[in-house]
Amino acid sequence: MTIFCPFCGEKLVDEAKFCKNCGKSVENYTHINNDTNTNPYSFQPPVEEKSHTLATVLGFLLAVLIPLFGIIIGIYLVTRNDNSNAKKYGTIIIVLGALVWILSFFTAIFM
Ligand SMILES: [Zn+2]
Repeated sequence: MTIFCPFCGEKLVDEAKFCKNCGKSVENYTHINNDTNTNPYSFQPPVEEKSHTLATVLGFLLAVLIPLFGIIIGIYLVTRNDNSNAKKYGTIIIVLGALVWILSFFTAIFM
């Protein structure tokens, strides 16, 4: 394969670190070209996310039944960095738990 200097257009030897015409470093460019050439069909499979289904289901249940524990599980889910859904559901559980908690206070006052 032929690589040309990205600065002056001079034809370069494979694995050349410097352009022999303008003297600029072309190492990065030749390496990028080599990587894409040796592995043209390689692709990164999506990183498998850890599932927190049990904690999520438990969180929703507890948010309604025992809001304090629901909120704790919600915080646990929000702090998981290995799953974007856990963060999303954790936030919902915290809000839900807080709402149920507030509602239970109101019913306690007005009952
Ligand atoms: Zn050059």
